[in-house]
Amino acid sequence: MKIELNPDAEIVKTVKEGLQQTGGYCPCRRERTPETKCMCKEFRDQIADADYEGFCHCMLYYKRK
Ligand code: SF4
Repeated sequence: MKIELNPDAEIVKTVKEGLQQTGGYCPCRRERTPETKCMCKEFRDQIADADYEGFCHCMLYYKRK
């Protein structure tokens, strides 16, 4: 298992700018809760799921099996 940044530098830049503006909360969600703080619960659950391979919701990270 490996977590990588999206190879598209433009997407990484945009999402990181969004994270800076929200103080570290997921820029693609409205709620500001511990579940939406990056790395959010959704992605942490995807990391924990041995069968999941793919991007996080914002496409900042890619999880490889
Ligand atoms: S979707 Fe990705 S960028 Fe957004 S909070 Fe979750 S891990 Fe971070």
